[in-house]
Amino acid sequence: MAATAKEKANVKVNGSDRSDFNGMMEVEYSYLFECLRKNKEDYIYLSDLINALEAVGIRENDPRLKLDPAELDIAPQVVLDYEKFKHILKHSFGGLIKDAIQGNLIIPDFASFCREITEIYELTNKNKNGNVATYIPQLGRVDPDKYAISICTVSGQQFSIGDSNEDFCIQSICKPINYCMVLEEHGEDIVHQHVGREPSGIGFNGLVLNENSLPHNPMINAGAIMTCSMVKPEMDMADRFEYVLNFWNKITGNQNSLGFNNSVYLSEKETADRNFALGYYMKEKGAFPENTNLLSTLEFYFQCCSIQTDTNAMAIAAATLANSGICPITNERAMENNTVKNCLSLMNSCGMYDFSGEFAFTIGLPAKSGVAGGLMLVIPNLMGIAIWSPKLDKSGNSVKGIEFSKELVKRYNFHIYDSLTLNNPDKKDPRLKRNEAKIDGAISLNWAASEGNLLEVQHIYARGIDINMADYDGRTALHLAASEGHEHIIAYLIDKGVNLNPRDRWGNTPLQDAYKGNHDATILLLEANHALK
Ligand code: GLN
Repeated sequence: MAATAKEKANVKVNGSDRSDFNGMMEVEYSYLFECLRKNKEDYIYLSDLINALEAVGIRENDPRLKLDPAELDIAPQVVLDYEKFKHILKHSFGGLIKDAIQGNLIIPDFASFCREITEIYELTNKNKNGNVATYIPQLGRVDPDKYAISICTVSGQQFSIGDSNEDFCIQSICKPINYCMVLEEHGEDIVHQHVGREPSGIGFNGLVLNENSLPHNPMINAGAIMTCSMVKPEMDMADRFEYVLNFWNKITGNQNSLGFNNSVYLSEKETADRNFALGYYMKEKGAFPENTNLLSTLEFYFQCCSIQTDTNAMAIAAATLANSGICPITNERAMENNTVKNCLSLMNSCGMYDFSGEFAFTIGLPAKSGVAGGLMLVIPNLMGIAIWSPKLDKSGNSVKGIEFSKELVKRYNFHIYDSLTLNNPDKKDPRLKRNEAKIDGAISLNWAASEGNLLEVQHIYARGIDINMADYDGRTALHLAASEGHEHIIAYLIDKGVNLNPRDRWGNTPLQDAYKGNHDATILLLEANHALK
C-alpha cells in the first residue's frame, strides 16, 4: 500500500521540519490531512474539507480560502491528494484552514453558539409589538413581520437566520459609517469643529443644536447632515456617492451586496421638511464648513440613507468595526484603529436615539439602529451582529432588535463591563480560551469522546493528539465513547487506526464497557472490528 501522508511527512520531518510562510510544518499538514481522510484512502474529498470549514462558520465563498469556483460546483466528486490539499492550505489566507480544522477560531464551538442564537431568534420572533415607520411612505409598505439575524466573528465565522438575504434600507446606519469616512478624510480635530460628541437626549430628528450651535453628535440627523457635508465635498455628486459605496464595499468584504432603493430615496426627499429645517438652522448658525452647498448636502444625505443591503453584509461591516477596522473576510484594512475607537465610543453613547443611555446600561454594547428596522451591534474583538425587523418602538428602534440584544447579553458575558464580573455562572463565554492548548490533550479528547462531540474529537485529532493516550486510570477515548454508546465517535476512532483493546487500570476493554452499558449497536460495531472482551 502507498505510504500514508503521515508516513511521508514523518520521513520529511526527520530530515527537515522547517515551517513554511504560513508558519506550518509538514507534520501539521499531515495531521490535517489525516483528520479528513476516510477509509485509509490516499485522498480526501473537497466536500469534506468544505463541510469541516462550514461546521465552524467558514463559508465556502470566503475570499480568504481562494477555492476554485469551478471545482466548488461539483465539490462532492472532487478529490484532493496530499499535495493538492497542501497547495490549498498554502494558498489560503495565513493558517485559516488549519485554525478552522483545529478548532482555533475565536468561537471554537460555533455550532453550539449558533444553536443558541437560533433559540433567541425563535423566542424573540414571537414578539409582535411595534409599528413600521410611516413618515416616509415607502418605508411603511414593507412586510412588518420580516426578521433576520446575521453574525460574523472577527475570525470570519458567519451565521444567518431568517430573511437574511432580503435587502432593506440602511437609513440611519449610514451615520456611523459616514462619520468613519470623514474621520479618515479630515481627522478628529477638524470633524469635531463642526459636530459635537454628546448625546442629545431627544429624538433622532430633534430641531436642536448644542451650546456651540453645532449638532450634538454624528449619530442623529443634524450631525449626520453635517458629516455628509464633509464627505469629499470637492467631488461631483456621482463620484461622492460612488466613494461611499466603495467604502461600504470594503467593510462588507467586497461581496457586491449593496444596492440603492430609488423609491425610498424619492419618498424621503418629498417628506424631508424636518431635515431641510435642520439644514437651514445649521446654515444660519454658520455650523457648516466654508463653501458647503446645503441642497446638495441634503440630497447626498438622503441618498446615503437609501443604500440597501442585507443582514449578511451588514454583519460583516459590524465585524470590521469589531476587528478594529480590518475586514475579517478579506483581511484588508478599511480604516484606522483610532477611527473605529471614536466611532464605537459614539455608537455606545448615542447610537440608539433617545434610548441610548438605557441601551448602554442594559446591553452595554456599541450599536446603531435605523428607521427601516436595521440594527448593527458590535462586540469589540469578538463579532458583529446585524438584525433586521421593521417594527419599531416609540424611540424608533427595532422592537425585535432590542429584545434580541437583551436576550443575548442575558445568556452571554458580552456587556462591556461583564469583564468585571467574570465567572458569573449565569453567563457563558463562547470565546476561545487561550490556555486551552495547555490542557492535557488526553483529558480534552476523553471528555469530547464521552460527550459524543465528534467535531471536537476531530479538532483535537487535527492538533496531533495521540488518540490512544490514556488518563491516569488508563481510560482512553475509546473506553469513554464505548461506555456512553457513541458509535459515531467509535467509528471515527477506528477509521483513524485506534488501538481497539486498551485495558484500563481495572483491566477493562472498551467492548467490556459497551456490554456494561448495554449499548447493543456499540457492541456490534466493536465486535465487527474484532475487539476483545
Ligand atoms: N431617513 C431618515 C431621516 O432622516 C433617517 C433617520 C433614521 O433612520 N432614524 O429621516
